[in-house]
Amino acid sequence: MKKYTHAWLAMMAMKRIEKAKIPARQQDDAKALITWFKNYRDFVLSGAWYPDSVFKDMSTSHIVKYKPDASGTSGSFRVMPPTLQMYRLGLTSDMYGKPYTLEKRHNICDRCEAFTESLIDSFKILTMENEGSPIVPSNNHIAMRFFILSHYIADCHMPLHCDARSFYNKNEVHGFIEDEWDKQVRSSYCIDEDNERFFYDPEGYPLKNIAMTELMKYVEEDLEKREFVWSWGTGCNNTWDYMSGISQYSYLMSYRLVPADHIPDEISKNLYMNSSAYKDHFLEYSKVILGDAVESIAKVWLHAWVRYRDWFRDTELAYFKAQQKQADNNLKTANKIIDNYPADKEKQAGKVKDSRSSLDAKQQDYDSTIAKGRNADKKAEALEKARTKLAEAEEKLARLEADYKEAQASLENLKALLLAAQIQVKRKEAEIKRYADSNSGI
Ligand SMILES: [Zn+2]
Repeated sequence: MKKYTHAWLAMMAMKRIEKAKIPARQQDDAKALITWFKNYRDFVLSGAWYPDSVFKDMSTSHIVKYKPDASGTSGSFRVMPPTLQMYRLGLTSDMYGKPYTLEKRHNICDRCEAFTESLIDSFKILTMENEGSPIVPSNNHIAMRFFILSHYIADCHMPLHCDARSFYNKNEVHGFIEDEWDKQVRSSYCIDEDNERFFYDPEGYPLKNIAMTELMKYVEEDLEKREFVWSWGTGCNNTWDYMSGISQYSYLMSYRLVPADHIPDEISKNLYMNSSAYKDHFLEYSKVILGDAVESIAKVWLHAWVRYRDWFRDTELAYFKAQQKQADNNLKTANKIIDNYPADKEKQAGKVKDSRSSLDAKQQDYDSTIAKGRNADKKAEALEKARTKLAEAEEKLARLEADYKEAQASLENLKALLLAAQIQVKRKEAEIKRYADSNSGI
């Protein structure tokens, strides 16, 4: 697909997340994603075009090539969400369920999966790192990666990207179809040529021209009308599984778009334009392809975002629980000091008493030695030791009392802190419970 088509699809996906009726479980998160996106949408054109303009990994990562093959080992096709039109059409294809082989070196599904995971990781790093940390990714950078991801997802919906036929007639058909779509995007919206971006409407989406093509109108209307299904499809658990399913039905779609009764290498643009596949069905198939591409980008984006948000909520809960534990420990320590005080005090007072008697005895011993005119150096040493021991015992007694007083004074405060921490944990748990809908497996 071409530059403006990619940017437009990303914009339409954003609009889809805002306008579609998102299931209750993901609604708050969808709103938060749109709010976040609106600050960074100016990167959409460069971001969605980055894979073609900079990465240039078209020969491996923008495609996955299927070939009908009677001796192929795989004939399985994934069960996708029923709202995908390419899937519904695929189920009625003659080639559905027939064996195929896959060319090994292509990895568009891996690319989509890796980008999704790295988006989530980047948000986690952004959350955990302090502001100004040299390793913290910026929101601009993450937004850019959302748009890059949209490119790969969109490419997988371009049927010829999933078809092993070569169409080597200077790739005319491939280029022609993509040009057709790009022309329609450019003619249906107002484009700020100087800044290479769309002019925006008051809601921040591409500003429509008065005259729009039927295809563009269809996609705009479809994004509000189509039911938003959260699930990836039966047996699909992540971006990779989902994109693998998309590629299978994209492959089936390719044989509708360019039927097998032509010899691929011989299809020129003119031949294609005069075929009934083009004349009778191109518009219909384009609606299916572009409508589904918007759907898939919105779905993969929202899943990634919700996974980050779920992690964020869990991380907050863990933090609040640690605070609660600390508050609980502080209160327990204070209570222990208060409870043990009478016994500790009695014990320590006994030690003080003993030390004092010992000191008195040493004093008498010293005095009598001096009175007898004998050397009293050793006695003086013992006397000094007894004096120190008494001072220490007295100091410990004073400290016990001070600790007791402090514990008593802080008791109410510590109880209030614990209560506040408990309320915070309960609130967060209740919030998470709201999101922990069993039907919402990610
Ligand atoms: Zn591409």
